[in-house]
Amino acid sequence: MSTVSDEQVGFIDEQLINSLLEAAKSADKSRGLEVVAKARECHGLELDELAVLLQADDPEVISAIYDAALYAKNTIYGKRMVFFAPLYVSNVCANNCLYCGFRRDNKELKRRVLTQDEIRREIEILLEEGHKRVLLVAGEHPTLSGIDYIEECIATIYDTRVGNAEVRRVNVNCAPLTVEDFARLKATGIGTYQCFQETYHLETYKHMHPSGPKRAYLYRLHAPDRAMQAGIDDIGVGALFGLTDFRFEVMGVLMHSQYLDGKYGVGPHTISVPRLEPALNAPAANDPPNAVNDDDMRRIVSCLRLAVPYTGIILSTRERASFRTELIALGVSQVSAGSRTSPGGYYDAKAHAPEAEQFSIGDERSLSEVLCSLCKENYIPSFCTSCYRSGRTGEAFMGLAKHGDIHKMCAPNALLSLKEYLVDYAEQETRTEGERVIAEGLKDLPDALRKRTKDLLDRIEAGERDVYI
Ligand code: SAM
Ligand code: SF4
Repeated sequence: MSTVSDEQVGFIDEQLINSLLEAAKSADKSRGLEVVAKARECHGLELDELAVLLQADDPEVISAIYDAALYAKNTIYGKRMVFFAPLYVSNVCANNCLYCGFRRDNKELKRRVLTQDEIRREIEILLEEGHKRVLLVAGEHPTLSGIDYIEECIATIYDTRVGNAEVRRVNVNCAPLTVEDFARLKATGIGTYQCFQETYHLETYKHMHPSGPKRAYLYRLHAPDRAMQAGIDDIGVGALFGLTDFRFEVMGVLMHSQYLDGKYGVGPHTISVPRLEPALNAPAANDPPNAVNDDDMRRIVSCLRLAVPYTGIILSTRERASFRTELIALGVSQVSAGSRTSPGGYYDAKAHAPEAEQFSIGDERSLSEVLCSLCKENYIPSFCTSCYRSGRTGEAFMGLAKHGDIHKMCAPNALLSLKEYLVDYAEQETRTEGERVIAEGLKDLPDALRKRTKDLLDRIEAGERDVYI
């Protein structure tokens, strides 16, 4: 049942979003190009400007948006691309989200809560493949996957070793917690806490979440506030594209970012752009009410890149391989690879079946295949976790990022983490491609930094690990 507070939409001003989107429909080509020119300065966009780019239908403006996104991406991130793997620990859920295969009413789903032994086995496989960053994902259940369980899982993940390899950063995507429980989550040593609003549109939100704790729109909207209050300063936000008009959602994401930035001095660390994928017994996923096509996805990624240039954009394996490469060029800075969306899916082939996964995957390639193909396109695959381990999080990170200084650390650190991967895990073709990418990357560094990075690369070749600037 709705409560009074459910009907408020907090800092999301639906009327303002709608009126800006309406007004932007009459923006002409010169206004569109003017906004693109401003976006190229890489200082972000205001809501009215974002609305103009989202509504643009002139081919010249659209192509200028893509060009500017590419430019912003290259200026801020260079060719670096961070890799991570999701780890689904539980698919038991008290909610009934109409779009998700884990929904309570899906009686055909094989429910599973991984034991700590099973988590260890999953992590061993990810470590053997070369992963260093893991995103823990869980359904919402007060007892079976509550904070006690999640704490235990994170401890197991950090504790698992294969030789000298270990997970260096665990990010978490679980149901919103109270401030007290977020403080416990922080104490486990997580990197980013992610929570997608799914849709910023209240009426759609209510329809998509007919029952369960997730029905409370405002409680979810303020999850990042509670996490920040508990000391977690790297927050991931996002919308699930396909539930309502994508333009409304992108505006909602910017409003959310501005709110967090204004209140805490730091906006979200990352934005995720999941697009609805088919899922077992999930009516809204199998017939999306506002299906998002590839052009819409291009617009979503490029507009977000321009609106919040210093925020990471995450793309999962929901998208097919060739299209992922395209979206990467338009602004994505982190990708998952070799993913399984079912608990136990890495070590247990049976678990990787439609009756157990959350949604179907578009890019089935292994980490090694994705990494090699990105090297061939001159990207620098990165497993770097140095900011997190050096305490450069939240405001400290954003301060450096906005002054362009983070680049000086990220560029060499990406090369160092790639070198570790090449020495420890790569097959010959990938090794050759990767070494070429490293040699090219070194050329772009200023003299002193190049020399220092070369020394560290030699130390990795000689057997040292976990070397970073
Ligand atoms: N249960 C927690 C929650 O809902 O916040 C966290 C885990 S949930 C599995 C992670 C995300 O998966 C959701 O926030 C949603 O955006 C996404 N998701 C759910 N169903 C999906 C589908 N059919 N296609 C693509 N993404 C989906
Ligand atoms: Fe549960 Fe999250 Fe899936 Fe909703 S999206 S059914 S809360 S796992």
